[in-house]
Amino acid sequence: MKAIHISSILERLCIQNVSGTSPSITSFSPVDGKAIAAVPITTRVDYEALVGKAGVAFSQWKQVPAPKRGEIVRQIGDALRLHKQDLGRLVSYEMGKSLQEGLGEVQEMIDICDFAVGLSRQLYGLTTQSERPAHRMFEQWLPLGIVGIISAFNFPVAVWSWNAAIAWVCGNVCIWKPSEKTPITALACQKIVSEIFNRNDLPQEISCLIQGDAELGKQMASDPRIPLLSATGSTRMGKSVAQAVAARLGRTILELGGNNAIIITAHADTKTALLASVFGAVGTAGQRCTTTRRLIIHESIYESFKVQLVDAYKQLKIGNPLDEANHVGPLIDEAAVNSYLEAIKRCKQEGGKFIVEGGVLKGDGYPSPCYVKPCIAEVEPHYKIVQQETFAPILYVMKYKDLEEAIAIQNNVPQGLSSAIMTLNLREAEHFLSVNGSDCGIANVNIGTSGAEIGGAFGGEKETGGGRESGSDAWKAYMRRQTNTINYSDKLPLAQGITFNL
Ligand code: NAD
Repeated sequence: MKAIHISSILERLCIQNVSGTSPSITSFSPVDGKAIAAVPITTRVDYEALVGKAGVAFSQWKQVPAPKRGEIVRQIGDALRLHKQDLGRLVSYEMGKSLQEGLGEVQEMIDICDFAVGLSRQLYGLTTQSERPAHRMFEQWLPLGIVGIISAFNFPVAVWSWNAAIAWVCGNVCIWKPSEKTPITALACQKIVSEIFNRNDLPQEISCLIQGDAELGKQMASDPRIPLLSATGSTRMGKSVAQAVAARLGRTILELGGNNAIIITAHADTKTALLASVFGAVGTAGQRCTTTRRLIIHESIYESFKVQLVDAYKQLKIGNPLDEANHVGPLIDEAAVNSYLEAIKRCKQEGGKFIVEGGVLKGDGYPSPCYVKPCIAEVEPHYKIVQQETFAPILYVMKYKDLEEAIAIQNNVPQGLSSAIMTLNLREAEHFLSVNGSDCGIANVNIGTSGAEIGGAFGGEKETGGGRESGSDAWKAYMRRQTNTINYSDKLPLAQGITFNL
């Protein structure tokens, strides 16, 4: 394994440690428990000043034609290419995900920039046929203003870029509050994009970064100067944000918790199903919103698949995520370890039988208290703990008799993010994707629940919040639609045939 020289990475990314000044947040790496650096907390006074500057930046940025805004985003994509190695390593070190996934996250940022560049020439509105003579009707899409972005610790940079790259080409400016658990990667991103705005003589406040905890997020939620707030995190957070934003009739994009299942039918290619299940359950140490939390397995293959699963788990290597030999890194912090232990305890209390036991790993190779064993429990679908999202590598397995039952088990949870079926049977696959199938925002066939491409609209139903980000036509949420009717006659015919004479 190559050693990580964090101080040189921080230097190259122009991150200064403000440790000692107050108030500040110190970021600790879950990889080895060491302090990475500290960043200043945004005070109310700083926040007010920044929102004012963001408003001024908006009045300038919205005048820039959309394809030219796309050109700026293209430059941001290129800058990210240049910093991919450093930023990817920093993501891995600050968040604890594997180096591959850290680099993958930066790649996702580059990809969304490319997508946004193309989009900047395709912010299409429809032309409509008017019912009145000599009238033309069409719609256009206009920027909203300040877009607020609240992000979670587990995708500390990609989720911001999904929102920001699209919001920028749409003509908005952004204020980003990253997770208080990953402030350094956020600062690195801000430095990278600020440099591009500077170089192009554009106001830096097209991209604003604020640092703080839930209180700062609440401040954004109740701020009427932020017409759209895109918030990624727990359902608890989403409910709070949704209420505060709705109270001022603002808009939200909510990307909240998942409780994702794979249905493995008797017609599955079990080799693919096994890989998809294990990667889905243990990747990012079970800390993806799309992590596979439940396997619903046909009774005819249940016992044999269980044996293969247990064997696969024996091969997992847990340890420093920057060492590419390891499959599983640490959880984000000790609070996450406690939630993992609590979930195991509650699962056992409800009758769950662990076929792969969990536990906290200590000693050589585990330089922080955040390394845990991925585990598997046999459960009944109705257990309370199975209905919840525990953000850790705990996999629940259960069996089913027929596909209707499997789909009912899958849908019968409060969350609705990602779902998958593993089958080579066309009827089963199509049924799963039909109106009688999965109720999730994402439904896959023969790939797992975890991971998504930026080209599709990403998000989920029910307690996952209903928002859509990233590809497809998700951009429409970042703009306001205006319907325009032009009368080029010398008369005033009214709609619905109404006449009005003086
Ligand atoms: P979290 O809810 O604790 O925090 C997320 C963000 O919200 C942080 O920036 C936090 O400071 C802020 N926040 C917390 N409470 C708030 C409030 N009341 N008002 C405003 N802001 C508030 O979540 P986390 O532990 O960082 O992340 C894990 C959760 O995020 C999981 O539930 C996971 O499924 C979810 N997640 C969802 C998606 C998705 O796209 N659906 C993606 C990533 C993570």
